[in-house]
Amino acid sequence: MLIDWHTHPFAHGEEEVKPCQSRNILKEFASRAEAINLDGLGFSDHSYYLDSFNFDNLLYLKNSCQNISIKIGIEFDYFPEKENEIRDIIASYPFDYTIGSVHHIGDWNFDHPDYKFKFSQKPLFELYRDYYRIIEKAAESRLFNIIGHLDLIKIYDYRLADKNQEIDLVIPALKKIAENDIAVEINTNGLNKPVEEFYPSDYILKMIGELNIPVVLGSDAHSAERVGENFAAALDKMQKFGLQRTKIFSGLKTKDLML
Ligand SMILES: [Zn+2]
Ligand SMILES: [Zn+2]
Repeated sequence: MLIDWHTHPFAHGEEEVKPCQSRNILKEFASRAEAINLDGLGFSDHSYYLDSFNFDNLLYLKNSCQNISIKIGIEFDYFPEKENEIRDIIASYPFDYTIGSVHHIGDWNFDHPDYKFKFSQKPLFELYRDYYRIIEKAAESRLFNIIGHLDLIKIYDYRLADKNQEIDLVIPALKKIAENDIAVEINTNGLNKPVEEFYPSDYILKMIGELNIPVVLGSDAHSAERVGENFAAALDKMQKFGLQRTKIFSGLKTKDLML
């Protein structure tokens, strides 16, 4: 069951005709998924575009697509103080699944190129520590089916000198993820970023295997041609690290599968 769970038909709102407002553009995403033999496709636009989500179009596609399964998701920008707001949103719309992602440490949008300079304003260890603490809280909140791009903090390739330091920071977060039976995604879009590798790193994938955490795949595609990008390489990694558990999500219910 190969599904791309992480796509952004709305992109970043830069298009004049918003892609999610266009059934044709949603269909292009679905056609691409079908052409590369995926079994399903999840639309997971950012929560801050919620007002622009077009559920009529998303449901139309979900109900009319014959050959692949269409899922309606959302990628939340997790802030610990916004849990009630997130809970209300989840309860108010017809989502199949939720992705919890951390793009902010406090009010710093660390993965945005305009604010990259702030990486030099605090010791890197503290930034990694603060980031993984927020990931841990996201897992504890039980609001999410999937944790998005688990080690996004590495986006600009600012890495801790000793990877064991990162391992020590990520372990508590992984334990909470395992305890709450949340899936982690292999997000192939990291390959297109300065860090030039998937999220998460191989040494984290190894721990994910050891903790028997379920894994799903996501391209983070903002355009149809990137749907399912580099999934063959992601599947190779799953095999290499013994990652056999996956999940599928429908109406916020989860089902376990073995790959
Ligand atoms: Zn994200
Ligand atoms: Zn995303």
